Parts: sequence; structure tokens; C-alpha cells
Amino acid sequence: MNKPLILVVEDDAAVRNLITTTLETHQYRAQVAPNGEAGILEAISHNPDVILLDLGLPDMDGIQMIEKVRTWSKTPIIVISARSEDTDKIEALDAGADDYLTKPFSVEELLARLRVTFRRLNDAGSDAGASVFTNGDLKIDYAAGCVFMKDKELHLTPIEYKLLCLLAKNVGKVLTHTYITQEIWGSAWDNDVASLRVFMATLRKKIETDTANPKYIQTHVGVGYRMLKV
Ligand code: CA
Repeated sequence: MNKPLILVVEDDAAVRNLITTTLETHQYRAQVAPNGEAGILEAISHNPDVILLDLGLPDMDGIQMIEKVRTWSKTPIIVISARSEDTDKIEALDAGADDYLTKPFSVEELLARLRVTFRRLNDAGSDAGASVFTNGDLKIDYAAGCVFMKDKELHLTPIEYKLLCLLAKNVGKVLTHTYITQEIWGSAWDNDVASLRVFMATLRKKIETDTANPKYIQTHVGVGYRMLKV
């Protein structure tokens, strides 16, 4: 079997070398590009399985590159940001990135994000069009509109159900507050984000055993939420 190919778009040679070495010692192949223009060309000619993209590039903003790549490709993009501001990550996620890493990150963190991404890719292939979603003890029967936890039916409000289905259909992917509120309410006002927090709290009470240490839905403070594959 072919090793998965990861395209690394990063202008900092030290970071690029660290990532490449890590990938090559962990069953991945790496292709590198030092800027956005080269990154786009590499993405076209090599069709990588995943793109690791630094947001601060010399020739273009990483967000621009995401927008360009998304016009023809659904390849998962994991953004690497030196900037700690949440707005960059949110903008990248809304432009079509799948996940993010904040510099400095550990090798373990990088490998964990890649595992989550590949797991999601594999599941997307096998679960496409499935009428029942299962994740650990959680089961959603889309056709019947029912949710079960350890075979016990849960009683969710329509919004809680919509929210859970949205997270389940994007399992493994970080969804921003803006994306979620637009999908649920068709708008993204501050009030909607406040409502989202309330609905998320009530949903968690129903699906999580320990709401202080949620197993299914992860909070990304200031960014959004992600359902984890358990
Ligand atoms: Ca950079």
C-alpha cells in the first residue's frame, strides 16, 4: 500500500524540516513548498492526501491559498498558525480548512491531528449515505430521527437534534461558531452564538457522562466545536 502523501507548505526551513522528518519517520511521504504559489502547483501536480499549510507565507496569505485550493479540491487542509489570535484560525476554518495547529506544536500533536484527519477520510468513504451514525455508545438513526445512548433513546429538542446531526456529519472536523449558527439558524449574530452555548450545554447534559470532561463534543475556546470519534 502507498504511504499517504502530505504536502507541507511552509516558508520557515527549520519548521519545514522538522515536519518533513517527523512525517517520513511515521509512515508518511512528504512533499514541500516554500510559498503559496509553489504550494498550489504541488497540490495540482501531486494531489496530496493532506495539506499542512502555514498561514503566514511570503507571497500570499494562507487563507487565499485555502480559497484557491477549495475551488477544485476537497483535500483536507490542516492550518499551522504562529499567530495565537483566534480570528486567523476561524477565518481559515471558514475558508475551508479542516483543522489547525498553533506554533509551537509538538510532534505528537501533529501526528494526532493527522490520525484524526485520516480516520475521518476513511469513515467518510465507508459511511457515505449511511442512514445510521454510530460513534462509541452514541447512535443516530437519521431516517427515524432518533438518538440512542447505550441503546436507550434520548429525548432531544429539534435544535439539539439538528446540532448533534451537524457535528456527527462533520465528525473529526472543527466547526466554527459562525458555521454552526448559520447552519442551524441561517444567521450568525452574537445572540446566536450565545444561544449556541446554551443548546450545547443542554445537549451535553444528555449525551456526556461527565460534562466537565466531555468525550464526544470538544470545545475549541473562541473558535467552535468538534465531535471526536471515540
Ligand atoms: Ca511563515
